[in-house]
Amino acid sequence: MNTQENVSSTWTGELQESSKIPSKADVVIIGGGIVGISAAYYLAKEGIDVCLCEKGYISGEQSSRNWGWVRVQGRDEREIPMMLKSLDIWRNLSVELGEDIGYREDGCLYTAYTNKELNDYQSWIDLAKAYNIETAFIEGEELKKEAGAASSNWVGGIITRTDGRAEPQKTSLAISRGAERYGATILTSCAVRGLETSSGKVSAVVTEHGTITTSTVLCAAGAWSSLFCGSIGVNVPQLRVRGTVARTNAIDTPIKGNIWDKNIGIRKRNDGGYTIAHGSVLDHSITPNTFKYAPKYLRALWKEFNALRLSVGKDFFDELKMPKQWKLDEQSPFERTRVLNPPPNKSVIHEIESNLRVIFPELKNAKIIESWAGMVETTPDVVPIISEISNIPGFYIGTGFSGHGFGIGPGAGEAIARMIQNKDNIDLAPFKLERFFDGTPIRPNSTI
Ligand SMILES: Cc1cc2nc3c(=O)[nH]c(=O)nc-3n(C[C@H](O)[C@H](O)[C@H](O)COP(=O)(O)OP(=O)(O)OC[C@H]3O[C@@H](n4cnc5c(N)ncnc54)[C@H](O)[C@@H]3O)c2cc1C
Repeated sequence: MNTQENVSSTWTGELQESSKIPSKADVVIIGGGIVGISAAYYLAKEGIDVCLCEKGYISGEQSSRNWGWVRVQGRDEREIPMMLKSLDIWRNLSVELGEDIGYREDGCLYTAYTNKELNDYQSWIDLAKAYNIETAFIEGEELKKEAGAASSNWVGGIITRTDGRAEPQKTSLAISRGAERYGATILTSCAVRGLETSSGKVSAVVTEHGTITTSTVLCAAGAWSSLFCGSIGVNVPQLRVRGTVARTNAIDTPIKGNIWDKNIGIRKRNDGGYTIAHGSVLDHSITPNTFKYAPKYLRALWKEFNALRLSVGKDFFDELKMPKQWKLDEQSPFERTRVLNPPPNKSVIHEIESNLRVIFPELKNAKIIESWAGMVETTPDVVPIISEISNIPGFYIGTGFSGHGFGIGPGAGEAIARMIQNKDNIDLAPFKLERFFDGTPIRPNSTI
């Protein structure tokens, strides 16, 4: 069994300031989460001179704080081809990188308390069948084998045994080292303040440590993409919700796969503990952007109504005061918040703890030994934006992955790298930014 590792060590170590930045690169990537890092990896593998700038730590924000579920189950149909590609990548990633990132194909189980809840899964079963994904209904002894004594709570569930899990605080760092081996330059503590253009086309990025000449820029800035893009005149609808997460000490139980119950989600960790979170609670602090983008989010808000806990407080005024534009030779908001590190919601932690004990008898003696929170960024239809921005040739966006960007991250990174190189690719049309402005109906088909 591996020794236990603090998740927060990912964003609390000494910040490495990159001493030397290149004067030029073929491609510059803004953001060192799993999406930016994976894109850097696949570009570097093709021999492209790529430089990634991260304002804080590699995977210091969403990419190290997530539950670690790698699943196709329950996704919006638009994401399925990319996610299937991603699963192929995950299966071989530890070997390819020469590091164990903890990928285990132990399945993903969603549970139901009533027959109505169980029947609601039928639409996913039908969709899965169309893509040859082997999701099946599960009940009785078979369910007990997956979930232990907790199975008596449910009438049944669905399971996709080809889904998996990995260790978030290890994965992006390992991919980052892989990208460096292929020649990528990875800069930390290096915020990108803005873009320079020449005849309307991208010509350089301006970082806090100097300018890098380039013709191609990818914005993979996670929860900051809307602010960055807004500063250069590109409107990206994006809202943030906070997810609270915890992990337990190592404990022996037969439960190996990811299990979602509406009151708790659990995932076996490679250190022998479990990553645990509430199955359906997200905090949204109302800010000026909530009002700005509300009309586009109406359907998503309706769908998530029971899960969202709304509040108004400091975040409202912080966002109101946040500059929307700045001079490129002055400190930008990205340097002022090196790491978006929201505090975990204490009352949610209490709920998680008591739900764990009530629902999973085998885990009743497990102790919570660390808790944290992450700010999930989401688009109005809960599907990412992967898009070239037509009025700024050379500028691309890969953002808005909602609460499911970790699993799809490697596949998205590869697809983005192919898009930038203009190579044959999976169909990226459903991910265009324009869909939010050209009258396309905004339809969230999955949850955040
Ligand atoms: C609590 C929680 C649970 C989740 N659970 C799951 C799960 O189980 N499975 C799953 O698939 N997904 C899950 N997700 C979602 C997943 O973590 C995200 O979708 C994914 O990590 C997004 O990756 P990213 O690279 O787009 O963004 P991020 O990881 O947020 O990375 C963006 C990076 O950009 C940097 N940056 C921003 N602006 C600048 C700038 N101007 N200059 C330089 N750098 C900049 C930031 O510092 C940050 O490091 C969860 C998320 C959270 C928060």
